[in-house]
Amino acid sequence: MTETTLEIIPADIVIVGAGPAGLMAADHLATLGHRVALYDRMPSPGRKFLMAGRGGLNLTHSEPLATFVGRYGPAREWIGPMVESFPPEALRDFAKGLGQITFIGSSGRVFPRAMKASPWLRAWLTRLGDLGVTLHTRHTFLGFDDAGAVRFSTADGAEVAARADAVVLALGGASWPRLGADGGWVEIIERDGVPVTPLEPSNCGFDVAWSEHMRRLAGEPVKRAAVVFGTERVRGEIMITGYGLEGGGIYALSRPLRQAIRANGHADITVDLRPDFSEAQLAAKLAEPRGKRSLSTHLAKAAGLAPASVALLREGHRPLPTEPEALARAIKSVPVRLVATRPIDRAISTAGGVAREAVDFHLMLRKRPGVFVAGEMLDWEAPTGGYLLQATFASAVRAATGVGKYLARRK
Ligand SMILES: Cc1cc2nc3c(=O)[nH]c(=O)nc-3n(C[C@H](O)[C@H](O)[C@H](O)COP(=O)(O)OP(=O)(O)OC[C@H]3O[C@@H](n4cnc5c(N)ncnc54)[C@H](O)[C@@H]3O)c2cc1C
Repeated sequence: MTETTLEIIPADIVIVGAGPAGLMAADHLATLGHRVALYDRMPSPGRKFLMAGRGGLNLTHSEPLATFVGRYGPAREWIGPMVESFPPEALRDFAKGLGQITFIGSSGRVFPRAMKASPWLRAWLTRLGDLGVTLHTRHTFLGFDDAGAVRFSTADGAEVAARADAVVLALGGASWPRLGADGGWVEIIERDGVPVTPLEPSNCGFDVAWSEHMRRLAGEPVKRAAVVFGTERVRGEIMITGYGLEGGGIYALSRPLRQAIRANGHADITVDLRPDFSEAQLAAKLAEPRGKRSLSTHLAKAAGLAPASVALLREGHRPLPTEPEALARAIKSVPVRLVATRPIDRAISTAGGVAREAVDFHLMLRKRPGVFVAGEMLDWEAPTGGYLLQATFASAVRAATGVGKYLARRK
């Protein structure tokens, strides 16, 4: 059995997980004058945050707050008030305080001018260092000992424990595990009797039993489409992959699609390839004389369909009608059957996590007074568009506020 050494740390708060949630909690608490020790299993902090910045760091969204909080679906009642207390404007001000000027893109999404997370993270770590926050990397959270100290395994195989007056767990979800968050905490805190909703992929791809021809189109985008599932309709790009579909248009529907696949073994969506045109407008365009053009060329010229869209159309409608009205109807409603949810390790985010009933208003575990939870490890999900980071940061502010009050009460 490995012997545990009690680490003497000059801190009254231990934060485990140095992603956006842990860093925000550390900032908030250190600014209040608390001594904070921040732990992470990885050799460096904020790896998923850096990855999020690779394709343009979509920090938050500028839409009205009432619309914004609606994006959290069934978790709206819980996450909504956290976002209202720490809204997009507050996050933009916070970014500004770190020298990160933000702007609103044409879609209403908010980005830092630098577009990436690295300058932000650099400035943040410097500030946290100045505030006296100590960073302990290569420390993997193992749970709590009988006295409530936080147990870690270190890179050299030793086991250490850190005692603090309060703890914040900000261990993330289970997507992209190579960036640090692998959901290993679920088993640990379930042993404590904390209810956890099973972790599932969110903002993820789906499998489709494509024909050989479609597989050859892997990597081709279908731009400006609309995906319809039941009563929901989402505008956005979809990406054809060798196994099925990815992309914003499909990610936003991941919760109902996942649920339908679980219940029925499949989910039937339809893709509107020209959402900007009505069926009648499209039929009028397709009625233009075709001359000697092939049908594919006619679809490209008259209906503006790119080759990937034509291929998807042909895949969904066999045989493809040629009469303009029927063809227009087909273009606006291409059936695609999704047969499986892609594994969580390549999903953008995680659904499920520490259940709402497991924590109080300030996100303190009912089973472990003094231990708070923040970020993606809580049970909520949201589409891409800045809603993930906004809720991550807002929940960290809520938890950190709770820690401050908890420590004040104890004193
Ligand atoms: C490719 C990609 C692009 C994204 N783009 C965006 C975007 O543009 N906008 C947006 O809003 N969101 C985006 N996200 C989502 C966003 O990055 C996450 O929601 C956010 O990072 C969650 O923050 P967190 O602090 O809760 O968890 P994480 O960022 O996952 O941090 C958790 C930390 O805990 C550590 N940890 C985990 N387990 C242990 C353990 N046992 N012991 C010690 N440490 C541990 C990890 O190493 C990690 O550092 C993107 C995600 C991905 C994967």
